[in-house]
Amino acid sequence: MAQAKLGVIGGSGLYNIEGLEAVEEVRFDTPFGPPSDAITLGTLEGVRVAFLPRHGKGHRISPTEVPYRANIYALKSLGVEQLVAVSAVGSLKEEVRPLDLLVPDQLIGRTRSRVNSFFEGGNTAIGIVVHAPFADPFCPHLNKALHGAAAEVAERVHQGGSLVVIEGPQFSTRAESHLYRSWDASIIGMTALPEARLAREAEMCYSTLACVTDYDCWHDSYESVTVDMIIANLQKNVGAARHILRLLAARLPAGRQCGCGHALRTAIVTPSHIIPETVKKELSLLLGKYVPPA
Ligand SMILES: [Zn+2]
Repeated sequence: MAQAKLGVIGGSGLYNIEGLEAVEEVRFDTPFGPPSDAITLGTLEGVRVAFLPRHGKGHRISPTEVPYRANIYALKSLGVEQLVAVSAVGSLKEEVRPLDLLVPDQLIGRTRSRVNSFFEGGNTAIGIVVHAPFADPFCPHLNKALHGAAAEVAERVHQGGSLVVIEGPQFSTRAESHLYRSWDASIIGMTALPEARLAREAEMCYSTLACVTDYDCWHDSYESVTVDMIIANLQKNVGAARHILRLLAARLPAGRQCGCGHALRTAIVTPSHIIPETVKKELSLLLGKYVPPA
């Protein structure tokens, strides 16, 4: 199968990357079903890139319905080690203005209806327990490279801050928006979780390029967020996002100095001889180097 090093998950407004060379589309199935759409493989600045539109082309999959496990598994199976998610977000701080960009360094989870791990079977235990470290949900090295590229392209780019992830699909209430502000969160979105958790379990570096489209609903001087507002501001930001991805690809560090590539080394609680062979086999892409199938 064709390989890629850098993965890009496009959010609202970003359904393709211009300038990809030698493009091919791959469709495949995973143990978690099919991903959101076909994955586009191509070369950007000499780096093999895999691109996946999170909501499917045409934007037809809601944040709750995104097949997060299939998406991350599919990118992992293509060899992706570093993953950048591009997302539209609302701002929770005065100084983070619409049309600004922000590379968050923390997450606050407020989702309720999503499967958060590759190692869960829903109502039936699959026979393995994995507690991956998640104190720093974004890769510090990839974040730094992404912020550097963004700061060269755009005027207003914020480094760090907490991203609150809500279930949606409705926007938050005014009381919730004020609550998240009291937590000192910077931005609000609907998709970074469980994406970041699964990327960690897949031992990928993960960073988010957040494109600020609105002030959610807390700001007295601005109208509450609407879809029209998001789309109008996103279209202004998509060109910058594409330019940033190109710069990032050109500068991607050759090896990984961070801990992301061995996140599961001390995370698997269940002794190897107790883990069912079927699980070891089915999830060998993720677990194979620690608990190889017999
Ligand atoms: Zn990393």
